[in-house]
Amino acid sequence: MIRVLVLGAAAGGGLPQWNCNCEICRRAREGDPAALASDQASIAVSADGEHWFLINASPDLRHQINATRELHPRGGLRHSPIAGVVLTNGDVDAIAGLLTMRERSPFTIYGHERVLNVLRENSIFNVLDPALVGRVALPVEEALSLMLPDGEDSGLEVVAFPVPGKVPLYLEDGARKDYGSSAGDALGLHIRNRRNGAHFFYVAACAEVTPDLAERLRGAPLVFFDGTLWSDDEMIRAGLSQKSGKRMGHISMSGDSGSIAAFRDLGVHRKVFLHINNSNPALLADSTERRSLERAGWEVPSDGSEFKL
Ligand SMILES: [Zn+2]
Repeated sequence: MIRVLVLGAAAGGGLPQWNCNCEICRRAREGDPAALASDQASIAVSADGEHWFLINASPDLRHQINATRELHPRGGLRHSPIAGVVLTNGDVDAIAGLLTMRERSPFTIYGHERVLNVLRENSIFNVLDPALVGRVALPVEEALSLMLPDGEDSGLEVVAFPVPGKVPLYLEDGARKDYGSSAGDALGLHIRNRRNGAHFFYVAACAEVTPDLAERLRGAPLVFFDGTLWSDDEMIRAGLSQKSGKRMGHISMSGDSGSIAAFRDLGVHRKVFLHINNSNPALLADSTERRSLERAGWEVPSDGSEFKL
C-alpha cells in the first residue's frame, strides 16, 4: 500500500494569492464553490498510515498539518508522525515550510546536493538543529530508502531523476546561460513501497516532456504532474507578469507541446495536475478548460484529497 494525501494543489502564491485581484483569486476569496481555495503544492506519503513523508515543505505547511488529522501529534507531549521531507527543488514554495518544522522534533531532509547547498548558505535554516534534523543528499537514478527517526526502514524508497527545469528565481544569474540552471535544480521522484511494489511518480515542476521522461512514465499507475499554466502566455495576457511559462521553467497544459498532448498515448492510469497557478482557468470547476482536461482523463485535486495504491 501507499497512501498519498494532497496537502496543497496550487502553485507559488496559492489560491487566493495575498496580493492578487484576478478573477480566479477574487472568486476564491468570495467563497465561490467553483473556485475552492488551495494551499501551495505538497503531498504527504505513507507506506503504513502511521509514518509520513512530505514531498516539499510549502509556506502553508502549518495550516496543512493542522488541517490533516494523519499529521497531528500522537502520544507524548511532543510528537510528529512526519518522519522526513523530500525536496524536489529549492524554490521558496518547496522549502519555506521547513521553518515551520523547528521546535526540536527529529526528522530527515532529503534533497539534491544543490538544494542542500541552498539550505547551508541560508543560515536561517539552522533553526533546524542538525543534531535532530539530518540532511541526506538525494542521489539521482539510484534508489534511496526513506528512514524513520528511530533508524527503522519506512518501507518506502525513492528514485530521483532530473527533469527539464530551472534554478529558483531568487538564485538566477542573468549573465549565465539558462540563468545558471543545472541538472538537479528540478527533480522528478519515483516513489515505491518496496514491500509490495505499489508506486507512483511526482513531477510537479517540469519544463518539457522529453522522450526519456515519456518512456519513464509510460503505463504508470499514478502521476502527479506540473499543472502551473493552461497556456504559455496566460500570465502576460492577463497582465499579471511579463514572463511566459517557458521562461519560468513550466510546461503548459494545453497546446501541441503541452502536457495533455504529451501524455495522450502513455497509458498512465491516473493523471493528476499539481502546482496549479492561480492564473490557470483549469482551477475553476466550471471552466471549459477544466472540462477539456477532464475529457482527456486528467484530474485537478482539491486539498485533502487522498490517493491509495
Ligand atoms: Zn490571482
